[in-house]
Amino acid sequence: KDDKKNNRPDRPSTRFVDVAGLDEVKEELVEIIDFINNPEKYHSMGAKIPKGILFYGPPGTGKTLLAQALAGETDSAFFPASGSEFVEKYVGVGAKRVRTLFEKAKKEAPSVIFIDEIDAIGAKRTTESNNEKDQTLNQLLIEMDGFSSSQTVIVIGATNRLDLLDEALLRPGRFDRHMFIGNPDVRAREEIFKVHIKNKPIDAKVDIKNLAKRTHGMSGAHLSNIANEAAILAVRNNKKNIGIDEFNQAIEKVIAGLQKKNAVIL
Ligand code: ATP
Repeated sequence: KDDKKNNRPDRPSTRFVDVAGLDEVKEELVEIIDFINNPEKYHSMGAKIPKGILFYGPPGTGKTLLAQALAGETDSAFFPASGSEFVEKYVGVGAKRVRTLFEKAKKEAPSVIFIDEIDAIGAKRTTESNNEKDQTLNQLLIEMDGFSSSQTVIVIGATNRLDLLDEALLRPGRFDRHMFIGNPDVRAREEIFKVHIKNKPIDAKVDIKNLAKRTHGMSGAHLSNIANEAAILAVRNNKKNIGIDEFNQAIEKVIAGLQKKNAVIL
């Protein structure tokens, strides 16, 4: 909190234990954590620390959360951004924002820059020219090529559509590590529920395994939403803890929302 007062960037308290499931991805990130925490070890071996990682997969699956956890595990400054906020009407504005972002991150290193919706600036370039977008993307490439690997700045990009991205962004030395972040399977859904009920009073009759079975096709964000909705219902119903009825209603509500959006057929 003191950091905020001094206008310092956030150093998140999020840890890997807050991210349920995604075991393979977390295993891969353990090496990145070691890179950030012990750069000399790698430099003395002549190894280059990776600069860019791409998280791709459906929405709400923990991409932002994982990036925060990577910063939290390494006590890095966290710079969240969204690709869409760089795309402006006036040519050069986006590029300038990219430059400023990297300047700040280098100053506060070790840093994790997180660019959500990176496809908004990193989509394949077309023959039809779009000066503002092209300049913004070029600036991002320049920044990624520009900082030396002795400055510990890791850039994480997130997208729902890996296939949309420009090849130039994926070249070695840029976003050359790609990690798929998918929807949770039944075991991961159970783990995610456990994370989100940890600080909530739950009736002993609530069977988490059963909740996990009934939420096929849902993302971590949906499950977190269910736990929160159930808690709100318990307050509304004057209950002393969250019971099966509240969870049933919360699941129904989320399913109804999904069907309305026609996002997933459950
Ligand atoms: P988007 O693509 O829409 O930006 P995202 O993949 O970045 O989504 P997050 O913002 O990380 O998704 O997830 C939203 C919320 O859902 C998290 O803050 C967290 O509460 C919950 N959540 C998602 N995945 C997990 C997970 N694996 N473990 C625990 N909580 C999760």
